[in-house]
Amino acid sequence: MKYAGANRLVLRTHSVAFLADAMLGRIARKLRIFGFDTIYIAHAHDDEILKIGIEQDRVILTADKELFKRIVKVGARGVLVSGRASELEDLAYILTNNGITSVGMNGISSRCSVCNGPMEEKTSDQLKNHERNNDDVDYVVVPDRVIACYNQFFQCTTCGKIYWEGGHLKRIRALIRNLDDKLVGRDCTTTNTASY
Ligand SMILES: [Zn+2]
Repeated sequence: MKYAGANRLVLRTHSVAFLADAMLGRIARKLRIFGFDTIYIAHAHDDEILKIGIEQDRVILTADKELFKRIVKVGARGVLVSGRASELEDLAYILTNNGITSVGMNGISSRCSVCNGPMEEKTSDQLKNHERNNDDVDYVVVPDRVIACYNQFFQCTTCGKIYWEGGHLKRIRALIRNLDDKLVGRDCTTTNTASY
C-alpha cells in the first residue's frame, strides 16, 4: 500500500549558507540534512577559505582559533566550533549564533547530504520511467519494494542520489527533535562574530 497524500513532505530550505573547514565534515553533512546550503572544504589555505566565505556570503565554520581570529578581524561571518560536549551542542551553538530557532520537522532537506547538490521531487512513476530511459549514468537504483511502497521521492540534481521516507528519515527526525529542544529558549541575541 502506498502512502499517497499522507504526511506529504516538502523541501526544506533556509536562508543561511555555511562553509565548513577541514575538521568539520560531520557537521557539514548534518547541516545539509537540515536543509542548509553547506560547502565543505577539506584542503585549502586559510586565505582561500576567507575569500570564498566572503564572496559567497557564507558563515565560515572552523575549529581553528587562528582562522577564527582572522574571520573576526576582516569582518567576515563565522563561528568557532570547538570544545563543546557533543556534536549536538556544536550544532545548537552554530544555529543559535545565526538566529535559527528551529530546524523544523515537516520537510526533507533541500540539499543532498553527500554533495550539497539541490534536490528535486520525483514520483515513483518518474523513477520507473527514469530506469527505463537510463539517461543518467549516476542514477542510483531504488529497490522495487521501495517504489511499490512510496509515492514521493527526492533526487539530488548533482549526484543522482535518491531519498525517500523511511528508516533514515526517522533517525533524522529524532536528531532534529533533540536539536529543536535545545534551540527553544536559548538566547538568540548573540552576533555571528562573537568573540571567544
Ligand atoms: Zn548529491
